[in-house]
Parts: sequence; C-alpha cells; structure tokens
Amino acid sequence: MSFFETIDPAFGRYVMFNAPVKRLATGFDWVEGPVWFGDANCLLFSDIPNNRILRWSEDGVTVYRQPSNFANGHTRDRQGRLVSCEHGSRRVTRTGLDGTVTIVADGYQGKRLNSPNDVVVTADGTVWFTDPHYGIMTDYEGFRADQELPCNVYRVDPSGQIEAVITDMNCPNGLAFSPDETLLYVADTGRMYTGDPQHIRVYDMLDGRPVRGRIHHTISPGCADGIRTDSDGNLWSSAADGVHCIAPDGHLMGKIHVPELVSNICFGGRSKSRLFITATTSIYSIVLNRSGAQRP
Ligand code: MG
Repeated sequence: MSFFETIDPAFGRYVMFNAPVKRLATGFDWVEGPVWFGDANCLLFSDIPNNRILRWSEDGVTVYRQPSNFANGHTRDRQGRLVSCEHGSRRVTRTGLDGTVTIVADGYQGKRLNSPNDVVVTADGTVWFTDPHYGIMTDYEGFRADQELPCNVYRVDPSGQIEAVITDMNCPNGLAFSPDETLLYVADTGRMYTGDPQHIRVYDMLDGRPVRGRIHHTISPGCADGIRTDSDGNLWSSAADGVHCIAPDGHLMGKIHVPELVSNICFGGRSKSRLFITATTSIYSIVLNRSGAQRP
C-alpha cells in the first residue's frame, strides 16, 4: 500500500516514496494542537476530552499539563514560549520559559470568548487566533455554555490590544501564514452537520490586517481543521482521508493517507521536515522532502 496519492506530478518533489507514515503513540480520545520544541526534541499535543497536554519524544509519552483547561491548538512565539488555546477557560495563554502562565486574551468588548481553537504568532509578536464555538457546545471538550460572541478571528498585538479582524466566517478553525507573512490562510469548518461551506480562505495582508478574503481551496472529503505552510508556500491541510498538499495557486497536488481522521499537523524534527500528525486516537509522523515555514 502506498501512503501517497499523487494528483499533480509536482507532488513528487515534496515526498519520498519510501518514507512511511509511522504511528508514534495511540490510546488517546481526540488529539489536536501539535507543536514542536526542537530545543527539547519533543512534541507537545492536546488530548482534549481527557483535559491534558501530552509530551511525546523518542522515549515515549508523558503528561505535560493536566488539567489543561481543555487546551486545543498551540504554537510557539518568537521567544520560544508556548501559546495555547483553552476551551475550558475560554482564553489564550502564554507559558513563560519559567513556567508562568499569563493570559493573552479572554474576552472582547466586555464579552467572553467562545472557545479559542488554533493560534499562530507572526514575526512582529502579534498573536492570531480563531474562536469558533465548538468547545462550548457540549461538555465533551470543555464546558457547555451560551455563546456571547460571533465566531471571529482575532489579532492581539504585542501591547495586548485585541481586535476582531475576520467576522464573517461560520466557524474559523486552523490558520497559517505564507512564509513571507503576506498571505493568511484560514480554514472554516462550519457548524457541524448543517451543510455550511467548509473551505479554506486566503487573505492578503495590508497594514497588518487581512483583506480581500476569497476561497482558496475546498477540502474533500471532510474539511480542513489544522493547516500549515511549507518553505515553498504550499499549504498542508488535515482532511478526512489524511493530509492534503495544496499549491500556492490553490490546486490539490497530492495526499498522504492516514488511517484515522486527521485533526491537525505541524512540522518539526531534524530540518523541520518531519510532519507530525494528530489523528483521533493517535499521533503519526512522516518525513517530507521540504521544511515547514513556521518558526522557530
Ligand atoms: Mg482546530
């Protein structure tokens, strides 16, 4: 069986025919939010229903934080600090290098956020995150509660000023910048089971704000949850049948088949060319022939 499905022959530049999709660990309930710590040679990821953040290394899996306030997506900022989305506390936090947790955002215009889902930090230190309502719909991945705000995309500048920058999506979820940070991609997973559009939009960045949003690609089967860009500007997206690779012009180049429903991905490992994949009950990885765009 091949792990790959090639749609555009150009996909061959990005994969190695004999590199396997490896299952690294299993037994979780719904894993999400992978983030690579090259300095510690480990991966942090969320097991959301079990209210914990786990740490994987070649030595195995240990608990990094429990309870985790039902943490979901993570990233690192330019100082190497962990930045986390928390459903349970309906906030985004930063964990300092000394372990101190500070709040990046927990509300907007006097109302509580819904359940921050995924986050990225740009080179200027601005924190960008999505705030769909998934974490307050049930008690499974947080605490059931009333929605106070639309499902927006926010930016928080280094001074702590928060601003809603995308306000017309159904349920914004994964987000990623192009390598030069001139384009912002945002996945809309829609309200579950309603037939909402489930596509990835792309925005031009103008004066630090996303403008001219348009449909970049529609994932099929399933929908895009977590997304990342590589150093060539290709977009790698979760999908129901694995991970899809989408060229900068929006066409699907190829797929990596994964045996479980994929939620999110991140680049890490040596040369930042190992793609880590969170997929339902397990984490997987595959070594690619290209590095991720995200830093550090
Ligand atoms: Mg997500």
